[in-house]
Amino acid sequence: MFISVSKVCLFFALIAQVHSAAKRRKKTYVELHSCDNSGIADEIASYDTVVKDIVDYVTKGPFKGKTYNELAKFVDNFGARLSGTAILEQSIDYMIQLTRDEDLNDIVTEELEVPHWTRGEEKITMLEPRVKDIALLGLGRSVSTPPEGITANVIVFNDFEELENAEEDEVKGKIVLFDPEFTTYGETVVYRTQSASKSAAKGAVASLVRSITPFSINSPHTGSQNYEDGVNKIPTAAISLEDADLIRRLVDRDINVKLNITMHSTFDTKTSRNTIIDLKGTRFPDKLVIVSGHIDSWDVGQGAMDDGGGLFVSWAAPVILKRLNLRPKRTVRSIFWTAEELGLVGAYDYEKQHRNESDNINFIMESDEGTFAPRGLAVAGSQKARCIIGEILKLFESINASTLVEDDSPGSDIAVIIRNGIPGASLHNANEKYFWFHHTEGDTMNVENPEELDLCAAFWTAVAYIIADISEDIPR
Ligand SMILES: [Zn+2]
Repeated sequence: MFISVSKVCLFFALIAQVHSAAKRRKKTYVELHSCDNSGIADEIASYDTVVKDIVDYVTKGPFKGKTYNELAKFVDNFGARLSGTAILEQSIDYMIQLTRDEDLNDIVTEELEVPHWTRGEEKITMLEPRVKDIALLGLGRSVSTPPEGITANVIVFNDFEELENAEEDEVKGKIVLFDPEFTTYGETVVYRTQSASKSAAKGAVASLVRSITPFSINSPHTGSQNYEDGVNKIPTAAISLEDADLIRRLVDRDINVKLNITMHSTFDTKTSRNTIIDLKGTRFPDKLVIVSGHIDSWDVGQGAMDDGGGLFVSWAAPVILKRLNLRPKRTVRSIFWTAEELGLVGAYDYEKQHRNESDNINFIMESDEGTFAPRGLAVAGSQKARCIIGEILKLFESINASTLVEDDSPGSDIAVIIRNGIPGASLHNANEKYFWFHHTEGDTMNVENPEELDLCAAFWTAVAYIIADISEDIPR
């Protein structure tokens, strides 16, 4: 299907709202003492030996280090895998072959149109009060500047309210810098996704945003942004915390800051694929327990953490079950989403293509917020569903991964499916430093840890297996 560019923009604006809403939701840690699992607790407890077998196989046995080593080979081979690029498609082919090499042959791919935005030359030079290069990364779908760049004075705002309250004359012809305090990613990311449109509406010629991160070594963080319909599309980029602080201090001293911004980019659409791998259930092959991560990444860094780790633990789940000859009653399906970073494009397509079989999704899982030491699951669903998942999580006390976080919209890609009332979860892990590396050149294999990846792979596999094998479906 071909989507016209204007439709694409509207579409992305809509899905970005869903995306950021998903990340904004409050998370609550719950004590599940109000659960009555008397009908199923004994059955779930009987999976303790299977859990031990999987954990031993992955952390001490033949699979030890395998997830890390395969991820490293993949990342070293392909590097960044931006939506719409040939490298992304080659990396998908590679994952299919890697899966076939494990004698898993139930693999299909589904084609869809994806955005293809490419970053060209990007440079910001502070011209006044002194000459200095400013570290930047253009934001996804940013338009180019004229060849000679845009030269203008800077006006700094803390938040959208300050921009709204400013006189149009103050903003017109200026470069706006949004310098919000980082609270949570979900709360702060709106300054990345919306500042270009809001600044343009006030007559700004370009917009900059303080990188959405609590920590920096002069490292700008890219990410998606959306132009609202009807606004002038102005170039937009993230700058480092250090440079944002510098500009802020100068402006606070009433010193004029003048910048030249030169940015080039292109935008069109290309064909990509979601990849679907099934380990067929023995009794209910139509019923699905889905594990997933996204295979695309930003063009900076190597996409090792975002989302190479999530991709490989989701690849590992059917592989480990196959190797251990564990065949659950329901199908374990592993999905490698495409084009997550440009707006959950693969997930939206899957939801649309498979809507009439959504009753068959028993539970859907996603790992896209790091694969540091696993702590448990962030779970969406009814209280009864959460009670059963909580009971299953008790089996992971030995690896300290028994926490159930109540989250009505966990994950990013799977939020598109969960909002239809399907229960699901994202990997809850010790990801306190995740946003230090997110969408930067620092997203490399050095962020990943072999032992933690083993624990994530074992946890992910065993949880999927138990949910796919127990006598009861996860209730809606
Ligand atoms: Zn991601």
